[in-house]
Amino acid sequence: MASSPDLFPNVAFSDVSAAAAVPAAEGATAAFGLGAATGAPRLSLVKAGKAEAESTVEIDLADAQVFKLGPREWLCVCDESEAKAGVEEKLFSRAVKVVLRTEAESKAFSLAFQRWKHQVISGKAGERLENGSIIASKSKFDTKIEASSAKMYFHYYGQLLHQQNMLQDFVRTGTYYAAVMENRSDFEGRVVVDVGAGSGILSLFAAQAGARHVYAVEASEMAEHAQRLISGNPSLGQRITVIKGKVEEVELPEKADILISEPMGTLLINERMLESYVIARDRFLAPDGKMFPTTGRIHMAPFSDEYLYVEMANKALFWQQHNFFGVDLTPLHGSAFQGYFSQPVVDAFDPRLLISQPIYHTLDFTSMKEEDLYEIDIPLSFVASVGTRVHGLACWFDVLFNGSTVQRWLTTAPGSPTTHWYQLRCVLSQPLYVMAGQEITGRLHLVAHSSQSYTIYLTMSAKMWGVGAEQGGILQTSTGKLELKEPYYRLSQPQSYMVPQDQQQQQLPSLQPQGSEQQMQEGLSPGITIDQVDQDCGLN
Ligand code: SAH
Repeated sequence: MASSPDLFPNVAFSDVSAAAAVPAAEGATAAFGLGAATGAPRLSLVKAGKAEAESTVEIDLADAQVFKLGPREWLCVCDESEAKAGVEEKLFSRAVKVVLRTEAESKAFSLAFQRWKHQVISGKAGERLENGSIIASKSKFDTKIEASSAKMYFHYYGQLLHQQNMLQDFVRTGTYYAAVMENRSDFEGRVVVDVGAGSGILSLFAAQAGARHVYAVEASEMAEHAQRLISGNPSLGQRITVIKGKVEEVELPEKADILISEPMGTLLINERMLESYVIARDRFLAPDGKMFPTTGRIHMAPFSDEYLYVEMANKALFWQQHNFFGVDLTPLHGSAFQGYFSQPVVDAFDPRLLISQPIYHTLDFTSMKEEDLYEIDIPLSFVASVGTRVHGLACWFDVLFNGSTVQRWLTTAPGSPTTHWYQLRCVLSQPLYVMAGQEITGRLHLVAHSSQSYTIYLTMSAKMWGVGAEQGGILQTSTGKLELKEPYYRLSQPQSYMVPQDQQQQQLPSLQPQGSEQQMQEGLSPGITIDQVDQDCGLN
């Protein structure tokens, strides 16, 4: 590179707001930095070969704007005030025209201007300039996500209590730590981008593993906290740059060797952050670069849970009243019933409730297209291991860190140590009856929407068994439409499940829980409290 991103030699500049026309200064230097006295970001334009006092024009960036005049020309405008004793303060605008050597330098100049204006930690391009020119078009994030949804989303992540909740998920944070530390060779001397850095924890892990430089990109107000956390850990922090902005919009000075991120929501895909992860790959990752995590899988299996079904159906019973203060509520019973079943249930359940071998659908973050996440269509096919009522589809996910040294999985499976994602169950308002050995088919169709989540379309069918089967007809089909953004967090009272005798006898060996023997004997024992319910009513 000809010049550092913050120093531009050989520029020409002229103060166009000066009372008398001033000839342009050629061969000057434009430098972005912090004012020695004020600590505020400023642009200094220094004429060649003159003493500093008479040669420097200072622009306070805090309230400055930059306008594009041409491919290499910019107009920097800032407010100045002149206060004389006894005279009212006089405000005026100062405008300085700066001409760069090349178009590439010109682009770098405008980016540096934005970055320093926002106290070094904002790298946002794409701002509309007031004279109508646009540096970059509206970002991919803004075109597909509703502004009100994004506002709430980043407000949520801007709060330390929600970052703490994720940090305290020991399975999650511990697995990331292990995956990074056990694969030091993937980080040592490398350039890392932390996609959605939050508190900055993964950037600090990457620095601990010897990263040469980490760019921690975070769109919410949490970026400021991350900056403080990183500055407060100087031995690591000197190799980390926090950049406030969306990964769809910020510019980085170099390509990354590895991306690290925690973009997983409920059912893996909630929040639609995987799309940002894939966009970050296309924008920042060098060819053959690595991604941590590398792949993700959504796992699915039919379940039988009479207790849950009755609990949900009973919620609508309120609307069965014919005389509620003299009012017949029953016209709304059907809608209330459907309403409850449109909420996916989030809790930790006993894996013995699964009645078939799970199947999975893989998402390869390194090769998939962002558009592949707009609609996900998964064909379902299971064989029932018991004769029972099927109440719906249970889902969970895992992700793989495909390190050069160690491959590590982070799993949210039932029976494994519980995470803040728990598991998710789509409950059918019409259960299916199946016999042991009977095939269950169907489709899980996930359609993204502009509120950063998905609508879930579930169809499950049980093929006819016995005499009618030869006719090829399908005996029963049950469908559901659920909203992933509106889950029912069912975590207040951990249930001890009574498993019917026949189900226990016909257990599939692979459905045995992976958790500790003792934990499983106690039934569900994640020790979930009401407090956690409150904390987890959020997004991730
Ligand atoms: N990496 C942190 C935080 C994970 S939560 C950790 O592991 O603890 C995801 C974070 O990504 C949130 O802080 C959220 O604000 C941020 N984020 C989501 N979408 C983003 C985007 N498009 N650009 C930048 N940050 C984003």
